[in-house]
Amino acid sequence: MTVTIIIVIYAAIAVCTGIVLGFIAARGGGSFVKWLLYGALIPIVALPHAIIIIRGGSKAKKCMYCRKKVSLNATHCPKCGYEFIDWS
Ligand SMILES: [Zn+2]
Repeated sequence: MTVTIIIVIYAAIAVCTGIVLGFIAARGGGSFVKWLLYGALIPIVALPHAIIIIRGGSKAKKCMYCRKKVSLNATHCPKCGYEFIDWS
């Protein structure tokens, strides 16, 4: 009986995660159905993946020397000290 309860709880969490990720993906221009299935099938992988995408997204750039992700408005790379030049 305990196993059944665990499976039911896991399924409920998986479906909720899928729906939440689906809506987040749809807002960010992604596929609602793809993220819903991804979140429902493997929420343990999909949830951190979604958080990384949301945090990383368009608000970060990569240092061209050390590949470290830095804030878009940073003028220097915090890891290697490379100075970003704004060509625009
Ligand atoms: Zn760097």
